[in-house]
Amino acid sequence: MLKQDKSIDTNVRLDHIGIAVRTFETALRVYRSIGVKIGDRELVADQGVTVQMLSVGATRIELLEPTGDDSPVARFLKKRGEGLHHIALQVGSLSRTLDNLKERGIALIDEEPRRGAAGNLVAFINPASSNGVLIELVERAEPTSANQHSPQIQSEYKRSTRQQGDIDD
Ligand code: ZN
Repeated sequence: MLKQDKSIDTNVRLDHIGIAVRTFETALRVYRSIGVKIGDRELVADQGVTVQMLSVGATRIELLEPTGDDSPVARFLKKRGEGLHHIALQVGSLSRTLDNLKERGIALIDEEPRRGAAGNLVAFINPASSNGVLIELVERAEPTSANQHSPQIQSEYKRSTRQQGDIDD
């Protein structure tokens, strides 16, 4: 068994599961019927996508509907059809996690954190280096209950937010 590297923060949570849909309506009918709570809807213009959050206990489902024909999600739908698009893992410090991945030669789509939905910092790992699974890494803009009780992670969060302030324009 591979030993855990002690220099790596292991406070990681499943933030959400991303599902690509052509339109929200069919998907919402299914999830509403299951009893899933419908959350916020937000346009992420630079990614050409509208996201609809569904809350499922401590984690969420993120429905992704393309706004046009030429966005990454539209291309995914054309190639693969509707279905599972990515999983998102929440980390304490996204810039540090990206450094750890780069040090180990793991290919990234985003070399630096960028703004995603809800003002969170996000970066994607190249699925070619993660078993065909598109992994989104998320650093929450608002600390969640999982890391609120840890002053160390909180101050780390504040520091990295200041460093990343320049991508917010
Ligand atoms: Zn996502």
